[in-house]
Amino acid sequence: MSLTSTDLLGEIKWVPHPRSSQLRRLGLETVGDLLTHYPRRHEDRRGFGEFPREESEQPICLCGEVTRTRLNRFGRGKKIFEVTLQESNPHALSQPLVCRWFNLHYIQRMILTGQRLVVFGKPRQRGQRICMEHPEFEIIENDEEISIHFRRITPIYSATEGLSQRVLRGLIYRLLDEWVDDGAQTPLSPELDSDLASRALREIHFPPTNEALARAREALVLAEFFSMQMLLASRRAHSRARTGGIHSGPGELLERFLRALPFDLTNAQARVIEELRGDLGSTFPMNRLLQGDVGSGKTVVAIAAMLLAVEAGFQTALMAPTQILAEQHHAVLRRWLEPLGVPISLRTGARKEDPLPLFANTPRLNLGSTGGPPVASGGSPDASSDVRYGKRRWSVSDPQTEAASHHRPAGQIFVGTHALLYEPDGLENPGLIVIDEQHKFGVAQRGRLTTREPAPDVLVMTATPIPRTLTMSLYGDLDVSTIDEMPANRGRIATAARDEEKLPDVLAFLRRELEAGRQAYVVYPLIDESEKLEAKAASAEFDKWRERLLPFTCELLHGRIPATEKQGIMERFRRGLTSVLISTTVIEVGVDVPNATVMLIENAERFGLAQLHQLRGRIGRGEHKSYCILLRSDPSKETMAKLAVLERTSNGFEVAEADWELRGPGDLLGTAQSGLPELKLGNLRSDAKLMQRARAAAIKVYRDDPLLAKPENQRFRRLVVEEVGKTFSHVS
Ligand code: ADP
Ligand code: MG
Repeated sequence: MSLTSTDLLGEIKWVPHPRSSQLRRLGLETVGDLLTHYPRRHEDRRGFGEFPREESEQPICLCGEVTRTRLNRFGRGKKIFEVTLQESNPHALSQPLVCRWFNLHYIQRMILTGQRLVVFGKPRQRGQRICMEHPEFEIIENDEEISIHFRRITPIYSATEGLSQRVLRGLIYRLLDEWVDDGAQTPLSPELDSDLASRALREIHFPPTNEALARAREALVLAEFFSMQMLLASRRAHSRARTGGIHSGPGELLERFLRALPFDLTNAQARVIEELRGDLGSTFPMNRLLQGDVGSGKTVVAIAAMLLAVEAGFQTALMAPTQILAEQHHAVLRRWLEPLGVPISLRTGARKEDPLPLFANTPRLNLGSTGGPPVASGGSPDASSDVRYGKRRWSVSDPQTEAASHHRPAGQIFVGTHALLYEPDGLENPGLIVIDEQHKFGVAQRGRLTTREPAPDVLVMTATPIPRTLTMSLYGDLDVSTIDEMPANRGRIATAARDEEKLPDVLAFLRRELEAGRQAYVVYPLIDESEKLEAKAASAEFDKWRERLLPFTCELLHGRIPATEKQGIMERFRRGLTSVLISTTVIEVGVDVPNATVMLIENAERFGLAQLHQLRGRIGRGEHKSYCILLRSDPSKETMAKLAVLERTSNGFEVAEADWELRGPGDLLGTAQSGLPELKLGNLRSDAKLMQRARAAAIKVYRDDPLLAKPENQRFRRLVVEEVGKTFSHVS
């Protein structure tokens, strides 16, 4: 019988029905699916080691005969099942090995005296004996099977309950035997040697040597990354092919804004603004990611870009993930831009019903780039009809005269939350869209913006620094600008992790800071609680703190507080009327109160590193020295290691790297958000070099043949079409 990749496992005679439904549960339906169910790891079973006489950290693989089984009961209904193994060719110094399983009833039914057993695990000294606890094991039933399962570098798969390693391995072994290589599974990448490519799939499962395994894996990872990079390159080519426009004015408005700023730009800010100006000034649609640590001053950069677009007569939008942030941005923009006569409107979900005077009666600036100053009249009652702008004098126009004149419609800025995406009234034809804190935005939302024609320029900003390789893989379709420098006037932040028991000392310290006129945040985690519980826990917490901190004033902030109230609370804190804000993580992003110098985080172990770093970014925003205190209630090794990262560095990129190392990329960003297919084999971190190669290869293919029209590129074209098909569900 010969099988092809698309044959259904359920229709193969020698795959019994219960197996095929178990496989389906693993998501494996076709021959191709199972063949690309790659081993999780391999065990070198070419020879079995001697039974150890001492413990080791290195797991080992042993083969022996079961000489005794025993069930010990202890406590209430608890059981330990013990199996004693004897080395096959024991010698005088051989010591038996004891394997132990706790409360696993089914194992006791599987293992019998006299069987031969292969076990894999770490040997441990337990009293006089050497034990393995919960080792992986296989029972050798007949010697024929040895050819598949032993005496080789043996693949270990992720199995599922009821589907053992042996069964899975046996199935794949036989599939590989009967499968006719149709090329569909052959790893594809321009630089791959075809001979190696054709062997890779077999050898990743059953490698003849460790070197062959490494080569096979490399080929498959390279191909996997290449297809990912092709998808990104196609997105990029697609967005470049769309019609955009020039969204940049001459920059006088920007100049004026920069001159009025109370500080000088950092070099990094100035460089990024130039990068943005380049994009805004060219016709292809900008698709740029701006990353910069918390407090690095991304808002100013965003404003600079928006002013260029406004000056060119375009509407621009600044979108934030939360209402608090949108309102803060609005306040900042008003303070800085209203003197320049730039109209700004606020739009958030919660305030929709408000009359939004600014929004409804926005004066429209008429900024001709050539010719004399535009003349117009009318406008809103709350804006002066004469707007000073640079050395020239501008007026507010009304639509009729505007139509009569040949000037472009005037630019303005909209600030809002996601609501702007869904109800863009007023925002008909934006030239630039800035999305703050991108990690809260999914691809779908990004897609919603970028499918308009003519395409607006899009800038997404994130304060979650992304390790370089990750940026490349997850956001490879975006250009990336990085602010890698902090403003000079920053007070330092000292970070210290403390045991919960030290709370009294911490409180004394906090009071000293408050007495010196500073303000503080106290943050506590609430995870997976119901709304009711959350409100209750929050107010219980609040009462405790209010008492502790008397006579200083506290206010409570959490997600269930109505929007208008929240705004008031933030405003009082900003103005220094409240000393301490007791809060959940709603203050996480972007909030900017320079006088707040202490951040106390309770149960810090419950937060992720990236989130803690974000929270810490709320302080150290003024000239005073700031303190971040991480209270932990769990002294485990992992907690200590995690919190130590923050004590060690205040650089967001370093935190991100450490976070990645400690937890893997899933938690850092969520690959689903990137709209890319899940990786089956490659590891974004350890295979970073391969990702670089794959990316270079994909870029080259697209550069030489942007439409993938050449005959030799048809195989790559299929790859893209397939991948787009697979990921379409994320995007739609
Ligand atoms: P983030 O990058 O976290 O969004 P912000 O844009 O909110 O940071 O900036 C943080 C604070 O730093 C703001 O108060 C802002 O006005 C200030 N700031 C921005 N750029 C500079 C600079 N070059 N020098 C001094 N202060 C700056
Ligand atoms: Mg910000």
